[in-house]
Amino acid sequence: MNPTEIPGLPVVPVMLDESKEIQFSCHKGIACWNACCANIDISLTPYDIVRLKKRLGISSTQFLRDYTLPYEMEKDGIAGVKFRPVEGGTACRFMTPAGCAVYEDRPTACRYYPVALLSMRKQDEYQASESYALVKEAHCQGHLEPRRLSIAEYRSEQGVIEYDEMAKGWRELVLKKKSLGPAIGAPSLKSRQLFFIACYDIDTFRDFVESEGFQKLFKLSEDYKAMLMQDDVELMLFAFRFLKQVLFGEKSIELDEEAARVRLAKWQERQAKIEEEARKKREEYARMLEEEGIHVEDTGLEEYGEEAPLYGGCKE
Ligand code: SF4
Ligand code: SF4
Repeated sequence: MNPTEIPGLPVVPVMLDESKEIQFSCHKGIACWNACCANIDISLTPYDIVRLKKRLGISSTQFLRDYTLPYEMEKDGIAGVKFRPVEGGTACRFMTPAGCAVYEDRPTACRYYPVALLSMRKQDEYQASESYALVKEAHCQGHLEPRRLSIAEYRSEQGVIEYDEMAKGWRELVLKKKSLGPAIGAPSLKSRQLFFIACYDIDTFRDFVESEGFQKLFKLSEDYKAMLMQDDVELMLFAFRFLKQVLFGEKSIELDEEAARVRLAKWQERQAKIEEEARKKREEYARMLEEEGIHVEDTGLEEYGEEAPLYGGCKE
């Protein structure tokens, strides 16, 4: 494969940088109007969701339930969210004959099209490096229009600079999880749920931040807390910091050391109890088999237990 080919896209594009010129224009009256919105596969960023749920005047929980489908990115246990098409069809729920019903708040992928953003992280670098690809699908007539502009100009025109800036923390988390994936195995159910809630269900994450346990464990100033309670975007940016801390040990939120110590001690106590119960069950099972004349060196009974708390200061 050519090193610049991108797998999984409808045509074989090449990686481009921002200065590269493209030939493209999309406007009402073009023969293919709405063709791209009639058959969608659109992944959403956390900022896309924050913008759309505000636009629709609903909670993130309702938005996720009514407009999206969960999926696994790259089959490595990283939770992603896609637009759910219309019932029994492939078209976007926001497509109207006049165009996009949520145009000012349309997701990043819609803004970028037909450019695709490719975030990559080199093995020894933390920051993602960005390049782009031009996707040419047969139905899209926009490539035949005479307008030429650079990818940088197109990004600015489509308002993606703000969207990319807002999604930066999330992309870094995804890239980091992907690159660590094979080394640490599939993420646990608890860490996947936490990732999903913090990244996509901002209103549930707000309840979590407001909870007594969270407030005891993390030291947040009253002013900052008040801002997080009111501002979805600030809360989303905080969620990325929180995930970097609990999943990767990148400490940026001050912990109450005493509360963390108590939490860890409680978990250790619970773990000791579970292990004791499991030991008794194994012995009982082995005794039962012995009575039936079956000699078992190792019963092979599954170990009982739960993973260490994700945010209790024990990930140092
Ligand atoms: S959100 Fe708007 S631009 Fe994006 S697929 Fe739906 S109708 Fe098309
Ligand atoms: S030109 Fe391309 S992007 Fe614009 S409506 Fe047609 S298919 Fe969609």
